[in-house]
Amino acid sequence: MYADRINALPPYLFATIDEAKAAQKAKGVDVIDLGVGDPDQPTPSHIVDSMCDAVKDPATHRYPSYTGMMEFREAVADWCKESRGLELDAATETLTLIGSKEGVAHIPLAFINPGDVALVPDPAYPVYKIGTQFAGGEPHIMPLLEENGFLPDLEAIPKDKLARAKLMFLNYPNNPTSATADVKYFEEVVEFAKENDIVVVHDNAYSEMVYDDYKAPSFLSVDGAMDVGMELYSMSKTYNMTGWRLAFAVGNKDLITGFGKAKSNIDSGAFDAVQRAGITALSSSQQCVADMNTMYQERRDVLLKGLRGIGLDAKAPKATFYMWVPIPDGYDSIGFSKLLLEEAGIVATPGVGFGEYGEGYVRFALTQSADRLEEAVARMEKLTI
Ligand SMILES: *Cc1c(COP(=O)(O)O)cnc(C)c1O
Repeated sequence: MYADRINALPPYLFATIDEAKAAQKAKGVDVIDLGVGDPDQPTPSHIVDSMCDAVKDPATHRYPSYTGMMEFREAVADWCKESRGLELDAATETLTLIGSKEGVAHIPLAFINPGDVALVPDPAYPVYKIGTQFAGGEPHIMPLLEENGFLPDLEAIPKDKLARAKLMFLNYPNNPTSATADVKYFEEVVEFAKENDIVVVHDNAYSEMVYDDYKAPSFLSVDGAMDVGMELYSMSKTYNMTGWRLAFAVGNKDLITGFGKAKSNIDSGAFDAVQRAGITALSSSQQCVADMNTMYQERRDVLLKGLRGIGLDAKAPKATFYMWVPIPDGYDSIGFSKLLLEEAGIVATPGVGFGEYGEGYVRFALTQSADRLEEAVARMEKLTI
C-alpha cells in the first residue's frame, strides 16, 4: 500500500518508548520523563499576549506570504545583527519557516537530485537523513565520535562520495550530544565546502540555550560562510514555542531563493498571527531567555552531580538541554534505558535512536524541575548497575 520511501523508514524507536512509558504509567508508576526535547515551561506571557491581539485582527486571517511577513523578516535581521553581528538583507537573505523541521525536510528538494549525496551527521536529529531520502538523495553518514569532540572528521569522507556530495547538514550546539563547535571548525567547513562545491546547512536550533558564559558562534559569522551556506534558527527551544511552529532560515541569497521556490510549491507560509508573536519574541527584552538558561543550568548541575555520584561519566554541557552520557559496561543503550524505565521509572532516550553511532550513550533532557531531577537521581542511586 505504501510508497517505498515509507516502507524504507526505520522502525520508529520513539513510538516503542512511548508504549513502554504508557505501560509503566498504567501500572501506577510515577514516571519522570527525561526523554523528549520539549521545554516544560510555557511560552513567555508577553509573546502569548501578542498572539492574542494578532489573532483578533482579521488582517492575519488570510493566506500569509510564502517567504514570510516582511516585518517578521526585518525583526529576524535585526535580531541576527544584535545577537551575533550578522548583516542580513531581510528581503533576500531571510525566509520564514513553519518550524526548522519543515525547513530541514524541504531543503533537499531544492538542492538534491536523485543519486546526489547529502552528508549527514550520526547520531543526529533524524530529519537530515530522512529528508535527503525523501528527495531521492543518498545520505552519507558522518560519524560524530567523542574522540573528535563529536564533530565530523571532514578528512574521513570518501572521495567518491564527496564527488557526488551537494549538501552537508551540521548542528551545533548539538542534539543529542550537546557538543559545541568553535569558529575554527566552522572555518574548516567553509573551506571544505568551497573546495568541494557543497551547500552547508547549519541547524542552530539551540543557538541561545547556553551556560557558564558560553556563547554559541554563528556559522554565518565566519568569513566566506555567506557564500556557501544557510543557517536555521528556531523559535521552539529559545522561546518555549515548540507548538507554535515558527523558525527562520538566513544566509546566501541564491540558496534562500532556491529553498523558497521548493517551499512555495508545498506550503503556504506561517500563520501571520504567529509571525506577529514572533516579532514580539525577537524584538522584546531577551531576559526570558537568560532566565530560562539559569533554570536549565541549575537543573544540569543537579543531574550532573547525581549521575557522577552513581559512577556515570557525565560531563557538563555548555549548551542545549541535553546530557549525553556513556552507559555502564554490560548494557546497550536500549537495555540501559529499559532498566531506567522499569526499575526507576525514568525515561531517557537510548542513543541508538539517533543513529548507529549513538550506541553506547543515553540522552537525558533537562525538561523536569530540579526537584524532579533530584528524585530521579535518588531513584538511580538505588539501582544496581
Ligand atoms: C528541536 C530541534 C529543532 C527544532 O525544530 P522546530 O521544527 O523548529 O521545532 C531543530 N533541530 C534540532 C536538532 C532540534 O533538536
